[in-house]
Amino acid sequence: MSFFEDLSPYTYLKHPSNEYTFNVGWLDNKYPYNKGKVIREFLDKLFSLCEISVSETRGYHECNICKNSYKGPLIICNENKEIEVGFAEIRVFDKKSNIYSAPNLIYHYVKEHSYQPPQVFIDSVMSGVSPNSEEYYSMLKKYQLDWIDWNEQFEKMKKNPKLLKILKKSGMEI
Ligand SMILES: [Zn+2]
Repeated sequence: MSFFEDLSPYTYLKHPSNEYTFNVGWLDNKYPYNKGKVIREFLDKLFSLCEISVSETRGYHECNICKNSYKGPLIICNENKEIEVGFAEIRVFDKKSNIYSAPNLIYHYVKEHSYQPPQVFIDSVMSGVSPNSEEYYSMLKKYQLDWIDWNEQFEKMKKNPKLLKILKKSGMEI
């Protein structure tokens, strides 16, 4: 996966929102990263943000910080919810028109590898636009960011017998 320094201007894919967008959590094992504790509530909110995928890519990015690099889609869990990550980005909108782009692996990086994102990002996740709000979707629309809502997608997949089989095979509890 590509490495970008935290808070550097976002240039990975072309979007009309790029001039307001900053990178967060584009880690790579070749570069050191900031470690520290985060509060539980931050992790919960970050998980909700990971449920809305932006800029899906073909194929999966793996976490290369994991010592025994696991091949295939990585599944993240929060309480009794599980979602696949490594194939898309998330967007975080603060209240001042700044946007943060992170790979959806960021939840895994924080939870499993003690990655501590910049404070400005933590603040935006905590008090920026909530992913469960209408405002969040209107921001995505405003900046022409295509998204996939994992919850909607999951419901659709469950109705398709072929996809349901794949989900069960991947070890997901349905
Ligand atoms: Zn990992």
